[in-house]
Amino acid sequence: MRPERATAPAQPVLPLEGSPSREGIGGQEPDPRVEVRRSARRRKTVSAFWEGSTAVVAIPAHFSRAQEAHWVDRMVARLQQDAAKRTGSATDEALMARALELSRAHLGGRATPSSIRWVTNQRRRWGSCTPSRRTIRLSQELQGMPQWVIDYVIVHELAHLLVSGHGPGFWRLVEKCPRVAEAKAFLAGVAFAGLHHGPGQPDEDGDDWGLTDDEERA
Ligand SMILES: [Zn+2]
Repeated sequence: MRPERATAPAQPVLPLEGSPSREGIGGQEPDPRVEVRRSARRRKTVSAFWEGSTAVVAIPAHFSRAQEAHWVDRMVARLQQDAAKRTGSATDEALMARALELSRAHLGGRATPSSIRWVTNQRRRWGSCTPSRRTIRLSQELQGMPQWVIDYVIVHELAHLLVSGHGPGFWRLVEKCPRVAEAKAFLAGVAFAGLHHGPGQPDEDGDDWGLTDDEERA
């Protein structure tokens, strides 16, 4: 899998005519569109990131064509690996594995859901739990957020398998998970920024802003 690459130094953007139509050929992921940005201010560092579906590789202006080729290959491969990892972790199977791992690490392995899955029809809640059936659903809106934020939501919902409501006993369990305060602040920030058109109101207990889960109580 080789990235598309610049052929003319004066052309930083590489429009690939018709590249979307390549999608699905042979069932393979198409190579991404690649844009190389040369920066005079950049001296040694190379960086790469996605802008939509375009892989942007920023390199110092003085790089030779060979250096550019080397770094573009390397950085695009890395971006693709990261993207593949994210897709992988988005599957329900991976989600269950992660949930059991988190349960073992933070809840003494006592919280074992019968199912945990990503759902698209849950835009107003980050996660939800039905203790009577031991099922957990996570909003797909969480995908792409840092793993430690997703982990917090998983642990939050796992804890509801053991304790209902958001009393002190509940938080004692959840707070064994690292970075809980940060994750709550992150979700509150997302909600506040309107990126998530869901929770914008504090829970009844007022300390759960950005995560509402309305668990069904058996
Ligand atoms: Zn909750």
